[in-house]
Amino acid sequence: MTFSVPQERKLVTELPGPKSVALQERRVHSVSRGAGTLANIYMDHGAGAILVDVDGNQLIDLGCGIGVTTIGHAHPDVVAAVTEQVAKLTHTLFTVTPYENYVRVAEKLAQITPGDFEKHSILVNSGAEAVENAVKIARKYTGRRVILSLDHAFHGRTNLTMAMTYRPWPERAGMGPFPGDLFSVPVSYPYRDGLSGEEAAAKTIDYITTHIGASEVAAFFVEPIQGDGGIVIPAPGYFQAIKTFCEQNGIVFVADEIQSGMGRTGTWFAIEHHGVVPDLITSAKGIAGGMPLAAVTGKAEIMDAVQPGGIGGTFGGNPVSTAAALAVFELIERDGLLAEAQRVERALVARIGGWTETFPVVGEVRGKGAMFGVELVHPGTKDPYPEALTAVLKHATTHGVIALDAGSWDSVLRIMPSVVISEELIDDAATVIEEALATL
Ligand SMILES: *Cc1c(COP(=O)(O)O)cnc(C)c1O
Repeated sequence: MTFSVPQERKLVTELPGPKSVALQERRVHSVSRGAGTLANIYMDHGAGAILVDVDGNQLIDLGCGIGVTTIGHAHPDVVAAVTEQVAKLTHTLFTVTPYENYVRVAEKLAQITPGDFEKHSILVNSGAEAVENAVKIARKYTGRRVILSLDHAFHGRTNLTMAMTYRPWPERAGMGPFPGDLFSVPVSYPYRDGLSGEEAAAKTIDYITTHIGASEVAAFFVEPIQGDGGIVIPAPGYFQAIKTFCEQNGIVFVADEIQSGMGRTGTWFAIEHHGVVPDLITSAKGIAGGMPLAAVTGKAEIMDAVQPGGIGGTFGGNPVSTAAALAVFELIERDGLLAEAQRVERALVARIGGWTETFPVVGEVRGKGAMFGVELVHPGTKDPYPEALTAVLKHATTHGVIALDAGSWDSVLRIMPSVVISEELIDDAATVIEEALATL
């Protein structure tokens, strides 16, 4: 594949450069402080795994705007699909007068999600909105109130999804009151709990039975690989045991695949690695190459429990966003991007897998496909080391590498590049990160 920007890191000014600094001065007088930024480097354009800032610096993007531009920045096929659609029709509202793109996206979602049964979808604007809709649908279907999520979960920033999100700071602090009937239950976190999947599931289930009561539970939300929580991958067998428990108790099992889905981990959906078929799946982030779109997909019987007009929204499943999604689906299949994500996994394991031996601050390197976490700890312990992450991110961003933070203790370096990233870029970015790790 050829790109409109050479796939190399190139710095022509200090970072942030003068134009970024000038924009930042304007920003503090116009944009809410609440929209905090990781790096005050203003971007102009991008291609593949490279972002170009307003000063002409080329940065390696290991974040994809939190796992969104999985297929690479400004992919020509997505650009073409969006351009064509935007000139034809931008809006009718599907629930007033429908259009084919929406139906085609729903058909495709039914085909690529796990499960050999009829599946229906609703399309919305954002991940949080998808999670909210999944809550509504599960409650309507079961006639029950309680919603479960896992420790270290991230499900969004609306009032309901913020309350389903684990950590108090910065997501929730001072922003209550929150809705009731939401509970966080223990997850499987192999690096920290040392438990097998079965043991961890027994702990989760015991907590539910003794604190909450299974018969009250409408839905159990899980991230197959926790993203913001620090790339936590529950031990093998954990989700199977949880799914069985849900089946035995009439609980809707929801896989929140907003970050882990759409090919990022080398399968269409990360729950496939765990051998579990969810009742409902939420998608967003990588679904439309950067255009806003999200979906809830699941068993037709559950999805159709809602009365007509009970779910929807003005912009949901917009014609332009759905055109972008259709281009993304086609690209993933035509260019073999699931295999590309597996290639990125092999390259990352080969290049950074040994960091636990080389750097005393690296507790664990873990991930699937193009979704990796490097957990930083105080040497010789498992105590989280958030200052180390701050130092690594500062060094990386000022040297032209954009990576992400994660983890309930802000101590996991999150690496989520595009699946089209080259081995050379991975190597160069890893070298920059190593310079920072070596000083710790
Ligand atoms: C990002 C994310 C959300 C929220 O999506 P938004 O589009 O930001 O509302 C929900 N769940 C998971 C797992 C996410 O990563």
